[in-house]
Amino acid sequence: MKEQYINPVLVNIKFYKSGKKMNDETYFALLERARSKIPKKVFEHSRFKIPPLRIFTEGNKTSILNFKEIADVLNRDPNHIMKFFLRELATRGNFEGTRATFIGRFGQLTLKSLMKRYTNKYVLCPFCNKPETRIIKEDKFLYLQCLSCGAKESIKAI
Ligand SMILES: [Zn+2]
Repeated sequence: MKEQYINPVLVNIKFYKSGKKMNDETYFALLERARSKIPKKVFEHSRFKIPPLRIFTEGNKTSILNFKEIADVLNRDPNHIMKFFLRELATRGNFEGTRATFIGRFGQLTLKSLMKRYTNKYVLCPFCNKPETRIIKEDKFLYLQCLSCGAKESIKAI
């Protein structure tokens, strides 16, 4: 079933075209009405949150202890995320059990922003911003396919 989205701005323009002037009260009433007709699902993506990274540093190694948990939430293969991290951090490391370990000392901010970048590139739909997507391979090319809006966007291999 296709979702119906009523754009409050369009409602507004229509109203003006009819030649009548609109007072604030009418405008807000219309806005409220339009808003109430937007399915709640449209707002759901804003609730999507990457779990906080549990970071552990020892000597010259940095681990993300809950790497597997995060991969599960993002619905991605931990090894795929790992590949991205290793390339971006320009280091070596491994994923084992539930944790990912990298050679070198990396701070919370660096790792957090990397996870965010991965999510924006390889998880969230660029059109509707929802996380219900999957990576598919067609003729040697990779695509991010959205299960919510049906969009298919080509993505770069890591
Ligand atoms: Zn989408």
